[in-house]
Amino acid sequence: MSQKTVFQRIIDREIPAEIVYEDEQCIAFKDIHPAAPVHILVVPKKPIPTLTDLTPADEALIGHLFVAMKTIAAQLGLKSGFRVVCNCGPDAGQEVMHVHFHMVGGRTFGWPPG
Ligand code: AMP
Repeated sequence: MSQKTVFQRIIDREIPAEIVYEDEQCIAFKDIHPAAPVHILVVPKKPIPTLTDLTPADEALIGHLFVAMKTIAAQLGLKSGFRVVCNCGPDAGQEVMHVHFHMVGGRTFGWPPG
């Protein structure tokens, strides 16, 4: 039985995804259940389960993901803004144990979140 997460399977091209960006360190694809007109998941290729598993060695990688998000936002025409969300652990509703950032845009968002 495979121990891979669904995101690792997308990275390994075992299951399809609508990929919008990829480089040597990360991949970004459309969320299968979009919560907004634009909903992209930005995922490091390194399989870190959740945000609390990050170490100082991951600082450059996480910075890289945020710079990639800037590129993706420009590519997708998110001129008036977007939101970045990282669900960490059960209270935040994390479903896939491979650290990832949600980029949502194309509408306005309330604060505080639900
Ligand atoms: P999270 O709750 O932060 O772990 O979010 C996981 C996200 O992954 C959810 O928004 C799901 O809709 C999304 N998701 C799960 N499987 C797939 C898939 N095969 N392709 C794209 N998105 C997925």
